[in-house]
This record gives sequence, C-alpha cells and structure tokens, in this order.
Amino acid sequence: MTTVHTLASGSSGNALLLSCGDTRLLVDAGISCRRITAGLRELGLALEDLDAVLITHTHTDHIAGLQTLLKHTAFPIFATARTGRGLACRLAGIEDRLLDLPLCRPISLGRCTVTAFPTSHDAPGACGFRFDTEDGGMGVLTDTGYVTDEAADILPGVDLAVLEANHDIETLRSGPYPYYLKQRILGAEGHLSNEDAARFAVTLARAGASELVLAHLSKENNTPAMARNAVEIALAAAGLAPALAPHIPAGSAEGGTSETGDGSTGSAAARDSKASSVGPRLSVAPRDGLSEAHMISRRALCRK
Ligand SMILES: [Zn+2]
Ligand SMILES: [Zn+2]
Repeated sequence: MTTVHTLASGSSGNALLLSCGDTRLLVDAGISCRRITAGLRELGLALEDLDAVLITHTHTDHIAGLQTLLKHTAFPIFATARTGRGLACRLAGIEDRLLDLPLCRPISLGRCTVTAFPTSHDAPGACGFRFDTEDGGMGVLTDTGYVTDEAADILPGVDLAVLEANHDIETLRSGPYPYYLKQRILGAEGHLSNEDAARFAVTLARAGASELVLAHLSKENNTPAMARNAVEIALAAAGLAPALAPHIPAGSAEGGTSETGDGSTGSAAARDSKASSVGPRLSVAPRDGLSEAHMISRRALCRK
C-alpha cells in the first residue's frame, strides 16, 4: 500500500510523507523537527522509520526543521546539485549526508522510483518530484511560477498529484502586499495561481489522475474554497467534474464564465451537460497539521 500525508502546507511550512510499504520518504522539512515528530507519531511512526528526506528547494518554509532533523537522524538528504550547494552553505554538518538528485532521470529509492524535475522558482536548483511505486505514480509540484516543460512532460500519468494553488490573482493584485512582493509571486519564478493549477489539473486528469491535492495556498491571497472552485470549474468544463466535492457550497460555482482563463467554458450549463463524467477526487492540504491519508492506486480506466 502506498499513502501520502501532508504534515503542513503553505508559506509557514511544508512537509509531506510518502509511505510505500516499508519505504518512507519525507519531502521537505519546513516545519520544526518537533512538529515532524508529532505528525509521524499520529501515524504510529517515528523519525527512525524515515529512509530519506528529499528537499525541493532552500526556502525556509521547506527546510526550517532540517538542521534539528539532522541531529536526531542518520538518513540521507536528497537534493539537486545546486540545492545541495545551497544547503551546505546554510546547514552545518549536512555535507556528508547529501546525495545528489539528478534532474529528469529516475533513480531507485527503496520501493520507489524518484524523478526530480526543474521548477521555475527564485531558489537555485528548485525542483519537483514524481514518485513511481507498484501502486501507481504520484507527483509533487509546488513553488513554481509556471508549469515548466519538464513538469508538463514528466507528471502526466500520475495517479495522485499534490499541486500548488497558491493565490487567486485578483485577490493578490488588490490585496495589501507591497508591489515588489506581488510582482515576485506573480512572476515567472514565483508561485502557481489557482488558474494555473486549474489548467494543469485538467491536463493531469485527462492523463488519468484520480486524485488532486491542492497545496501551498497563500493565507492572505487565497482560500480553500476559492482554490477548489477554480479547479472544479475547469475540470467540469473539460467534462471531468470532480468525483467528490463535498465542501463546495451548492451554486457557488454558478454564474456564467469561468475564472480559469480559458474562456466561457466554465458555465453551469457546460457543467451540467458533462455531469456524467467523473473526474479526480479533489481536496486541499491543511495549512497546519496532518492531512487525511491519500491513497495511491491505479485507476482502472486510464483516460487519454
Ligand atoms: Zn514554499
Ligand atoms: Zn519557495
């Protein structure tokens, strides 16, 4: 059995656990070691059960707990070469623990195959991951200004994707953030908007993804309902209405044109006419605390 739990998701900290049989991998350590330990304990696990940590990039919300984690563990830290150099400059004693993650080339890690791919973010060496297991494939794509060609090439075909839906563009534009910060977030090395996430969600769903977890939501410029609605409307317009959408208030996605940037196809009529299609399950990763268990399982019917 292969499961994914997020332990935290957002600009105040990120960590995710992938359990594939007895192989357990942590993706990012952006919350305190104490919180990582507490999250694992909720799952009946301890730090000793982890086989490795994989780091997406060197921003604090992805490595804040790493220094303390190093002290209490002996497992290797996987990172791309440039991220590794950044980590070596910041964290004492990490150099001997670092293992190089090649880009766009699968490597075996326990019962998983891991493929790192470049993201577009203002941290040298930033990457996302695809994990392939005997139960299916899973992708992690957060902290990227746009969906890179490599992500678009490597991720379709996963069964489960943890996908950044950082902000609602209008909320960000009209919000209180200073101009430079708005430009950074909206820029090519910033974060994926709900609209970006919606478009890529359709691509992943068409390629057979059965579950999408929206992640790294901005506290100030997004809400779980806004992120879900944007993605749900795009999926519905593509004839891939989410299989379960229990948290969307009835009628909240009504009202004519979609906000997904792909024209008027997000209308209620379009949704109704394609209501027979069943798309991926949709959820939002909790900002703090452990998520539900996301099971990786191959869909019986693969879309093309
Ligand atoms: Zn981040
Ligand atoms: Zn970042």
